[in-house]
This record gives sequence, structure tokens and C-alpha cells, in this order.
Amino acid sequence: MVAKCGICNEADGRYKCPQCRTAYCSVTCFKSHKGSAACAEAREALLRQREAAEAGQSPLLQGLGSGDGKEDEGYRVTPDQLDRMVESKRLQEWLRDPMLREVIELVDASGDRERALDTAVGSNEQFSEFVRVLAETINPEGAPT
Ligand SMILES: [Zn+2]
Ligand SMILES: [Zn+2]
Repeated sequence: MVAKCGICNEADGRYKCPQCRTAYCSVTCFKSHKGSAACAEAREALLRQREAAEAGQSPLLQGLGSGDGKEDEGYRVTPDQLDRMVESKRLQEWLRDPMLREVIELVDASGDRERALDTAVGSNEQFSEFVRVLAETINPEGAPT
């Protein structure tokens, strides 16, 4: 299923505005959209959504996927990775799961986060699955084979 073009509302919105991610069908529609108030508004909404996602994110989630062995830098997900997380319906559903949130909070609150994470992954199948999917979402190319 392709979303309808957000500009003419008729054809399939096969492309996305790089600024605001509004779907559009053709160059013609994009030209009338580009630089318009609608684009600015949609971009604002997108930014707010991203900020909300970022604010709601625990340090654990921000640290996941940065890879082991790296120095302190890279301990935050990039905006691109955040986009992928926000767009992942599966992750969003999981993050609403109270039990899963509890485990995440527990790990976050722990003094030794890495060890707590290991323990949680080892003792909780659902959480380990969540961590696996999260890592794949953030880093599709680097997913373990
Ligand atoms: Zn159109
Ligand atoms: Zn736009």
C-alpha cells in the first residue's frame, strides 16, 4: 500500500519530500509543495515528533546499537537511526509494553548498565528479542548474520 500524494491527493505518493517527508507523486506536485507553508508546517511537526521521541528515549536506547569497542563518541543514535526507530511500528508497540518498559528502566537505573543489560537479555526472552530487533532497526547493514 502506497500512501496518496499529499499535494494533489490523487496519485500514489511514491516519493517523499526530503524536508518534511510528505509523500508526493511527481515533480509537478513537488514543485508546488517545495518551499510552501504546508512543507514548513509538516517539517515543524516532524521535528516535534522527533524531539518527543528523543526525549522519551532512555539512555539505554540511545546507547544501543553504537557498537562495542567504540570510544565514548557515538554513544548517541544519529537522526537517521532515530528516524528508523520512530518509523518502526514493531518497536513502538514494544515500547508501549509495560513489562518491557520496566526492564528498560531497571537496566537504565543500574549502576553497571552493560551487565544489567546482559542479565536482562539472558533472563528475558522478549527483551532479548527486542534488543535484537532494535539493533537491526538502527543498523540494518551491521546486523549479525
Ligand atoms: Zn500529486
Ligand atoms: Zn516538504
